[in-house]
Amino acid sequence: MGQQVALPEEQLARRAGVLKVLSLGLLCVAGVGAIILTITWLFDPTFSIISILILDAVVILTSSITYSYALKQQRLSLENKGLVESLQHSNKLLSEANQELREATQAKSEFMAHMSHELRTPLNVIIGFSELMVDGVPGKVNREQKQSLNDILSSGQHLLSLINDILDLSRVEAGKMELRLSTFAIRELIESIRSVMLTKIAQENQGLDVEIEEGLPPVFADTDRITQVLTNLLSNGTKFTPDGGKLKIEVVREDNWCQVSVIDDGIGIKKADQERIFEPFCQLENPLTTEKGGTGLGLTIARQIIERHGGRLWVESEYGKGSRFTFTVPLAADNEGNPR
Ligand code: ADP
Repeated sequence: MGQQVALPEEQLARRAGVLKVLSLGLLCVAGVGAIILTITWLFDPTFSIISILILDAVVILTSSITYSYALKQQRLSLENKGLVESLQHSNKLLSEANQELREATQAKSEFMAHMSHELRTPLNVIIGFSELMVDGVPGKVNREQKQSLNDILSSGQHLLSLINDILDLSRVEAGKMELRLSTFAIRELIESIRSVMLTKIAQENQGLDVEIEEGLPPVFADTDRITQVLTNLLSNGTKFTPDGGKLKIEVVREDNWCQVSVIDDGIGIKKADQERIFEPFCQLENPLTTEKGGTGLGLTIARQIIERHGGRLWVESEYGKGSRFTFTVPLAADNEGNPR
């Protein structure tokens, strides 16, 4: 603290000042020298006037060169100062704009989180009552009425999943996604997801293999959030794999991380789209997307969840052949067995 580094323009200005003093000094020396030599010549006519003129010319030339160099340094210092000032001004404007942008994003995320929350309550009532009516609890309904009620129910459920996704996304963006971290075995979590998803996978005549490295230590993560990520990847796998396709979950240890891959032999993703699909609301054009729906938010949220755990989520895919989505979660203990 307290030690100031001279700015370049300050150095230039100082140098210009020194040079000016030097050139003026030289000019004075030339003047005094000329007077002394002229007086000498007056008293001693044998003294050569040419040598006086040459000497004075040299001194005057040196002083004028020094002076013009000093002026150049001064001009440079002024230009530099102007540049630094305009740069500082632009920096200030940029950081003000950034701050405004941050505040606007925060306000937008808070508004979205609040709105989504408020929308969920009436929507749950709509879903709940249509379920009751489909089951004929308040009174018997005929076939057509039941069909209409089922349409209300499925639209309500679709809207609810969209709202839940928006709520999740805004929570992450507002930095309000709390992780409830605990130590658990990934094998058990995968088994429970598998049993939940099995009916859906069987409906599509697809198969699901699970391969977990032997002796894999427990992970340290939020169980519900990792379930959400794996469920999303697995439902995408079934959704974008035609009937009769194969799915696989592969789990290996990578250093201090547990690396989970969800592999399918479905439609695949073109290279140019492989990063785009992680952007909010991105859904690629294909008949399966149109047929099976979705929100285009699942992967965005999944990546945010994994990154909040300090891990990574990425895709490798070959168009027409299939995809492999991989994510990493921290192990509960590092290589030396030290807990996280
Ligand atoms: P959603 O599944 O609700 O559309 P996601 O964010 O989960 O939203 O996925 C975004 C898009 O990425 C999907 O619409 C689809 O086009 C593409 N995608 C995701 N998973 C796969 C997959 N396993 N195979 C092919 N395309 C996929």
